[in-house]
Amino acid sequence: MECNFRIGHGYDVHCLQEGLRLVLGGVEIPYDKGFVAHSDGDVAIHAICDALLGAAALGDIGLHFPDTSADFAGIDSRVLLRRVVSLLRERGYAVGNVDCTIRMQRPKLRPYIDRMRQALAEAMEVEVERVSVKATTTERLGFEGREEGASVSAVALIYRA
Ligand code: MG
Repeated sequence: MECNFRIGHGYDVHCLQEGLRLVLGGVEIPYDKGFVAHSDGDVAIHAICDALLGAAALGDIGLHFPDTSADFAGIDSRVLLRRVVSLLRERGYAVGNVDCTIRMQRPKLRPYIDRMRQALAEAMEVEVERVSVKATTTERLGFEGREEGASVSAVALIYRA
């Protein structure tokens, strides 16, 4: 039976290392550490891409943008997000809404949340009201708490446009 609404879930983890650029939710954040990755390391966008791909049962980000491909070295993850949304569009789906939670001990992300929402909404070509970004520490517990890395989980709803 045809389903007009579908949900998807995504999760990603990246290591933090000193001296790298910190890019999160499409926004560059001044900090002394950044994410180790083949792309720009935007762990929030990666989780959102996986949620969107999952909603359409189209596999995951590693399948579409392999980290063994030189094409994606250092790539701005907003480009990947745009491509995911166009894959959905080709199949007749539009983005309903997206919600994600970033788990990271430092820096304080509150001042950047609205800029992230704006950047993500622009990349997905949806209204900013459809995009939610939340951040939490893990009370110093686990790898996020030890500031070794960050994790992001995301959910997305897509609908038959
Ligand atoms: Mg990733």
